[in-house]
Formats: sequence, C-alpha cells, structure tokens
Amino acid sequence: MLSRDVLECYIKAGKIASEVRSEAKEIVKKGVPLLEICEKVEASIKAKGGELAFPCNICLNEIAAHYSSPPEDAQTVPKNAVVKIDLGVHIDGYIADTAMTVCLNPEFDGMVYAVNEALKQVINMVRPGVKTSQIGEVVQKTAQRYGLKPIWNLTGHQLSKYVLHTGKPIPNVPRFDFARINAGEVFAIEPFFTLSSGKGEIRSGTDSYIFRLQRERGVKSPTAKDLMDKIKENFKTLPFSKRWLNGFMPKSELDAAFKELLSAKNLMDYPILIEAAGKTVVQAEHTVIVTDDGRIVTTQ
Ligand code: MN
Ligand code: MN
Repeated sequence: MLSRDVLECYIKAGKIASEVRSEAKEIVKKGVPLLEICEKVEASIKAKGGELAFPCNICLNEIAAHYSSPPEDAQTVPKNAVVKIDLGVHIDGYIADTAMTVCLNPEFDGMVYAVNEALKQVINMVRPGVKTSQIGEVVQKTAQRYGLKPIWNLTGHQLSKYVLHTGKPIPNVPRFDFARINAGEVFAIEPFFTLSSGKGEIRSGTDSYIFRLQRERGVKSPTAKDLMDKIKENFKTLPFSKRWLNGFMPKSELDAAFKELLSAKNLMDYPILIEAAGKTVVQAEHTVIVTDDGRIVTTQ
C-alpha cells in the first residue's frame, strides 16, 4: 500500500483538482477566449497550493485531447460547442488527473450523461483483482446502451510519481489482456464517447501544443542547453505548454532553442487528437487509488 504521506499528497492534489474543475465549469461560456480559460485554471491550481501536472486541455467538439492554448491563442468558445476541460495537479509529484465535458448544445446532453454514467459504473468496479479488460467491457457496453461508440484507441492510465502515463492502460473497449489492478496502484480512468456515426477512433492532427522532456543527450547550442535545463528544473518529465516558457529568454532565442530541442528529439510533442470521422467527442475522468477493499476517488 501507499505510505500515509504519499496518500495525503494524492488526496490533496485530488481535492484541488476537483475544486478547480467546478470553477472551470462556470467559466466555459460562448465567446470566452480559450487562453483565458487555460490561464484561469492553471492560476487557480497554483493559488490553492498545487503544482501543474500538465497544461489545461480545452478541446472543442471533434477534438478529443491535447489542445491547450498556445501563447497567442485568439480562439474563443464557439456557439453550441461541446467543450472538454482536462486538468492535472500534483503535490510533490503525486498527480490528480480529471476531466469533464461542458455541453453548450442540448443536442449532445445525452452523450455527456452517458459518459458520466460509464465513469461512475466503472469506478464502482475498482478493487484489487479486477481485470482492466473488464473495465473496458463495461465502458463499451454503456456506450452501446446509449447508442454511442467508445473511442477504442484512447485509454486511461496508471500514474506514478512525476509520471503521468505509465504501467497498465485502462481500455475503453474489451481487450485480450489479462492485466489486473492491484491495491496501492493509482489510475486515471477516462471514457471517451462519440456518436454512432463516428469512427470510434482518434487520429493525430498536425499541430502540437503540449510537450515533454524525453532525453537529455546531444544538445548542441548553449541556449538550447540552457532552455533544456530550465525545462528540467521546472517541469521535470511532466508535460508542459510553450506558454509556460514565456520570459525564460528573449522570444527569438527561445523560439530557436525550442525548435532545436524538438528536432533533436530532446522534447517530444503530443499532437492534438481528433475523432477520425470528425464527430463530436465527450469525456469524463477521475483519478482513483486502489485500496485493499475498493477505491478512493481523489478527484470526486
Ligand atoms: Mn486527463
Ligand atoms: Mn488522463
């Protein structure tokens, strides 16, 4: 099992994440700049004593994941949008990862209800010994019951100190996999649904707004080395936004150094993920700690 100290960090991170998620729900409205929402979410996490586990994701309609406002984002929340907000908090590296869908189009209210229902159902299944494939099966059945499709190639994931995605994936469809969850493990569970006319699959887009340090070898220019040191010091191996590098060095130097780190693969990027048939996607996510006799939902 987890030590008391570690448990406390997870629970504190979860409480902050849950509060900020509730605040975010109130500020997502037609016409509000996406950048303003990202900045407010991130500032609130810090104001509550948390650290950012990854940039605030704000994904509209058919975009399923990995959009976070770039430094000069001019986009606003469009009319009738289906908006996924996905946010992450850590305390000493122990992460809370949670997401919700804010639906500004009543046509899609049923989808949001269904994905929340699926998350609730599978959270109730979490206990030592449960197969991850059983969770996927319940997610898929719930989607089908509401006439929807799960996104098969997006999964929940295990969390560990300073690592957002590790260990066992939690699928959204049944899989031929015998992996079981154990006491002391921590998971983010995140069903994604699309319409039955969707492909039930995401593809990568061309743009990336979220990055992560992946290796430290082979940096050539001193400014790139300097930037990499700053990234390592501030974000460790966690995902970050280019917005967070503002002021690290003059903009032209920063842009060149950033490009160098990316092309030398010192940084990896997370391209935006889009429903393959361009259909609307909804998401719900909580972080759960597996206990001896069940679970603690840290982000409830
Ligand atoms: Mn998430
Ligand atoms: Mn997640």
